[in-house]
Amino acid sequence: MTSQQDLFADAKKAILSTAQKHHLDAKLVEEFLTPNRVVAVKIVTGNHIFTGFRIQHNNKRGPYKGGIRFHQNVSKEEIAALALWMSLKCAVVGIPFGGGKGGVVVDPKTLTEKELEELSRGYVRALYDVIGPHKDVPAPDVNTNPKIMEWMAHEYVKISKSHRSTLPEHFLYASFTGKPESLYGISGRKESTGFGGAVVLRETIKKLKRAPHTLSLAVQGFGNVGYHFAYYAAQFGCKVTAVSDSKGGIVMKKGNAYTPLDIPLVMRCKMEKGTLAGCYCAGGVCDMRGGKFISNEDLLKLPVDILVPAALENVIHRGNMRNVKARIIVEMANGPISQEASSYLTQKGVLIVPDILANAGGVSGSYLEWKQNLEQKTYTKEETLGEIERVMKHALSSVWKEAEREKIALKEAAYLSALKNVLHGK
Ligand code: NAD
Repeated sequence: MTSQQDLFADAKKAILSTAQKHHLDAKLVEEFLTPNRVVAVKIVTGNHIFTGFRIQHNNKRGPYKGGIRFHQNVSKEEIAALALWMSLKCAVVGIPFGGGKGGVVVDPKTLTEKELEELSRGYVRALYDVIGPHKDVPAPDVNTNPKIMEWMAHEYVKISKSHRSTLPEHFLYASFTGKPESLYGISGRKESTGFGGAVVLRETIKKLKRAPHTLSLAVQGFGNVGYHFAYYAAQFGCKVTAVSDSKGGIVMKKGNAYTPLDIPLVMRCKMEKGTLAGCYCAGGVCDMRGGKFISNEDLLKLPVDILVPAALENVIHRGNMRNVKARIIVEMANGPISQEASSYLTQKGVLIVPDILANAGGVSGSYLEWKQNLEQKTYTKEETLGEIERVMKHALSSVWKEAEREKIALKEAAYLSALKNVLHGK
């Protein structure tokens, strides 16, 4: 299994191998692979001392853009890999942003709300000089949410005003995206990553000339991305038969057949019980007769048609890649398949819809929020999702054509398209 330390090395390996195979300018590629700026900061709040990171990978195409992760396993290498993927992601879907990422080494579940707020504000104070609407625009990621973006954006605006900034408030709030709608956020942002991924899946299924209702699907991770992906994939007609969160999940099987879950009902049950693992019972809101508990590792082995890792990186690796039975994998998490497992599965004929394409709906929604703040406009949810649908359909179609033209896998084609764009600032 690839360790957190190897993640950046693994990410670079995939890019180098694509670049070499397609004779891209080696000097430009090498320069691109090194992040522009790596910042590590100390954040002191009450009785705690935290380490935070912001890695600004590349800004050739626009301001740095990428989420902030709060997790006990955050490391500089992990953030560097995520920042690099952000540069590629924005390039593959044609969003005029560069790539960046941030994180704090913390298990947020051990903090009170007050401590979480102090940490979020402290992160901004420590990094104020390097972020801003035209410098670097952070967003939510694992364990961060609109409330945390609200605290962070508030702090940014407060410091700007104390520095006598004359910029209007709506402009200063463009320093963060993924904010609540009540504070310059955009309608549809919380759905955007999952929705964008489901659109890419729907279009992929069309290209494969398959009917969605004949395809079963399992989603690992039932947070912002996993839930909305499952919801829209079900709306588009796929049979979502298993979902899981960090403590395991549920699968619906009647006899030998996998049957669809009612995704909104599953979410209501999770909200009621605090975890998905308790939702296979019968009665009350979790009326799911036929449902069974499933562990995260077993979910990856299910004989479903489509597997959707939507939690963390490196969940499919050398140790378990041979157990995967799905023929299509949609990478909704960032980097959920190690480089070695990707090569193995591709050789076996598995179609991998890569993360930099599949989960780019989030950054597309963030772009609209940023634009909305700068231009003082308000997009409706329909307008936001409509624009994301257009961007994602166009990106899939370009990458699909590249794959056909070069006779390469979709993942390699996405890397190739992104590299061609980013190396030449397009
Ligand atoms: P989240 O914190 O809302 O949800 C994460 C989910 O994963 C939770 O349900 C959690 O219980 C589950 N989880 C954690 N560890 C797990 C494990 N070992 N096995 C199974 N499930 C586990 O985070 P999110 O925003 O949904 O992000 C999920 C992934 O999508 C991350 O890789 C993130 O980088 C990526 N991503 C997020 C966005 C976005 O807009 N939020 C955009 C692009 C990519």
